[in-house]
Amino acid sequence: MNNNAIIQVENLVKVYPGGTKAVDNITFSVAEGEFFGFLGPNGAGKSTTMKILGTLLRQTSGRAIVDGYDVIREPQKIRRIIGFAMQEVGLDDLATGRNFLVMQGLLYGMSRKEADRRATELLDLVSLSDVSHRKVGAYSGGMRRRIDLAGALVHNPRVLFLDEPTTGLDPQSRLAIWDHLRNLNKQGITMFLTTQMMDEADQLCQRIAIIDRGQIVAEGTPGSLKAEVGGDMVVISVAGENDEERRRQEEKAQALVDERSYVDGAHIIDRGLCVNVKNGGGTVPDLLKLLSDNDIVVTDLSLSSPTLDDVFLKYTGRTIRDDEASGDEYGQAMRQWMGLSRR
Ligand code: ADP
Ligand code: MG
Repeated sequence: MNNNAIIQVENLVKVYPGGTKAVDNITFSVAEGEFFGFLGPNGAGKSTTMKILGTLLRQTSGRAIVDGYDVIREPQKIRRIIGFAMQEVGLDDLATGRNFLVMQGLLYGMSRKEADRRATELLDLVSLSDVSHRKVGAYSGGMRRRIDLAGALVHNPRVLFLDEPTTGLDPQSRLAIWDHLRNLNKQGITMFLTTQMMDEADQLCQRIAIIDRGQIVAEGTPGSLKAEVGGDMVVISVAGENDEERRRQEEKAQALVDERSYVDGAHIIDRGLCVNVKNGGGTVPDLLKLLSDNDIVVTDLSLSSPTLDDVFLKYTGRTIRDDEASGDEYGQAMRQWMGLSRR
């Protein structure tokens, strides 16, 4: 096992009463200071794993160690150094934002003065000072997530567990949360985040494990995972007086580009000629010159790189969106602006 890991998980299994195997023999570790992500569809086992690590749920078998402490043998030691921002938080709607944080501080054994000072600090940190005297019940979705985040930070945790911290939020609130999470990680807090959103994992996490049906199907940096899927794709539209002529030009272009050593194959799609290349940016000038030298007029060109969506597809044979379509209350609202466009 990795020695500078703050979270170590070995052969972890969770079978719920009733028989659902929510976590199916997973092994992974998270380094101190890392921004680590668990990416997977609804029901993959993300929350279950996180609850075990947060000492809120007992595993069926396997081992989980946080900061050197075993989750079953020394849960109190772990609770002191972790913060938990959960999906189904029970925020008190009648308390003001400030009161909520002060209460949290008192629960952690702070004096009234200390708790007050910490609340002020945290309200500023999550940009809620202006609305600190409003009741939490009147907060917007984004504000609620931020006050919840602040609540998880009251005792200065070294590890922060975030269970889908932006699910259900509008794009602007999401970006605000992302900024706060990045800042916390910069301050040295180890971040363990779960998400169903490729772009969230891609934007925030240094390392990602893709979890599906209780198992880790792929693990690595967003870059390395995408690189495993393959290179970039260039889509080229060419001019032609009519459909037939354009198709002839596309076929001519196809034969030409196929000769290039950096091309991994080319095929004709609706939008034009789709060329798979190892390094998109570097090859575009040569592709354009090749076509123009052969009297083919390019009318449009777009370059795209693999997304984590493609990674998920490669390892599971499905898209995350397929799973979201079944029973995920947020999926509907999210899909429109998620930017999960398939290539
Ligand atoms: P995720 O957080 O990735 O959406 P969960 O860890 O919540 O996934 O759930 C994993 C699986 O375990 C799902 O099939 C879910 O229905 C099941 N499950 C979750 N919580 C319970 C529970 N308390 N009792 C029985 N089954 C559960
Ligand atoms: Mg969950």
